[in-house]
Amino acid sequence: MTDPTDIKTRIAATIEAERGSILAIAHDLYANPEIAFQEVHAAALVADAVEAAGYVVERGVGSLPTAVRGTLVGGLGPDGPTIAVLAEYDALPGVGHGCGHDMMAASGVGAAIALAAIRDELAGRMVFLGTPAEEAGSGKAIMLDEGAFDGVDAALLFHPSDRTHTRVILLASEDVEVVFTGRESHAASDPWLGRNALDALITLFSSVGLWRQQLPPGARVHGIITHGGDAPNIIPGRTRAQWMIRARDQATYELVKTRFEALVRAAALATDCEAEVRFSGLSTAMRNNEVLARLWSANLVAAGWTDGEPVPELAGSSDMGNVSLVLPTIHPCLAMVPEGTPFHSAEVREASVSPEGDEVTLLAARLVAQTAWDLFHDPTLVAVAWAEHRAP
Ligand SMILES: [Zn+2]
Ligand SMILES: [Zn+2]
Repeated sequence: MTDPTDIKTRIAATIEAERGSILAIAHDLYANPEIAFQEVHAAALVADAVEAAGYVVERGVGSLPTAVRGTLVGGLGPDGPTIAVLAEYDALPGVGHGCGHDMMAASGVGAAIALAAIRDELAGRMVFLGTPAEEAGSGKAIMLDEGAFDGVDAALLFHPSDRTHTRVILLASEDVEVVFTGRESHAASDPWLGRNALDALITLFSSVGLWRQQLPPGARVHGIITHGGDAPNIIPGRTRAQWMIRARDQATYELVKTRFEALVRAAALATDCEAEVRFSGLSTAMRNNEVLARLWSANLVAAGWTDGEPVPELAGSSDMGNVSLVLPTIHPCLAMVPEGTPFHSAEVREASVSPEGDEVTLLAARLVAQTAWDLFHDPTLVAVAWAEHRAP
C-alpha cells in the first residue's frame, strides 16, 4: 500500500521542482491581462502547460472558446473518482489582475502537473478545467449547463485573499444592464421638447442610494454609468448603466431584484422615459462541502498555516457557487496581502506576482494536488462527500 504521506511529499517536491514554469504562468498573465470571455492568451497558455504534462486537452469547451478541459486517466485505470482542478484566468477592466486570477491559473496548472507526476499511483480521472469569465458572465454556470462538469466528483481551486479560510460565504449575484430611452433636443433652444434619459439614470442612482439603508443584511446593489449622454448641448436621449445585485441567499436575492426593477420603472415614470432591464450571469450562494473542506484544512495546517473562518460582511460572489449546488465543491482562500487590503485593486495586482504572492501560488498548487490525492487515495471519502451533498 502506498504511503499517503510519501505521496504528499512527492507532490510538494514536484511543485518545488517546477516552480519556475508554474510562476512563469502567473507572471505572464499579470503582464497580459484579458477580461471575461476574451482570455485567448491565458487559455492557450494553460492548455499548453497541461498538455505538456500529459493531459488530453480540449481547447474551447462547449460554446466557450476560452474554456479548457484536460483529462488524464490514472495509471491504475479509469475506475475511481473524477477530481477536477479548476483555474480561473480572467482579469478586471482597467485594474488587470486585481483579483489575483493570474495566481489561480498558475496554481491550477501546478496542481495538474503535480498530479500527473503521481499518475502511476492513481485510479480514476484527473480533470483540469480552465474556467473563463468569473468576474462577469459566470462562465462556470455556462459550463455546467453545457455538461463540462458531467461525471466530476469534486471541484477544487483556491482564491487569493487578505485572509485565510477554507470555507467561504458567497453572495448570490447577477449582472444587470439598464438602458433608458427618452428624446433628444437642443439643451438651450428647445429643452422642453426633450425627455432626459440622464435624469432617469440619476433618479435611479438616487433611489438606490436612499434604498441602501433598508437593504436586507448582506445585500449589495452597486452600479456605474457606462453612457451618460453625447454632448452637454444635447438633452440625453439614451443612457446606459451596468449594475450588480447581490444577496446572501436566493430568496432574498429575488426580493432585492424585484425591488430594483420597481425603482427602474419609477425612474422611467418620473422622467417620461422608457426603461429596459437585462439580467445575465447569475451566480449563486455557496455550499461548502465539509468532507472536502476538512481535507483541505488538514493539508493547510500540515503546511504550517492556520485556518480561519469567513467574515460574513466581507463576502463577494463567484460562479463557484453554481458549481457547489451541483457537486461537492470548495473555494478556499489563502492570504496573500495584509488583512484589510482592498480587493479588485492595484495593491492585489502587484502582490499577485510579489515574492510573497509567488509562495502562495505554489502553496495553493500543492494544497489542491494534496487534497485531490486524499480523494484518489480513499474513494470512500468521495462517496461521503456526495452523501453530504445529496442530504437535504
Ligand atoms: Zn476572483
Ligand atoms: Zn474578483
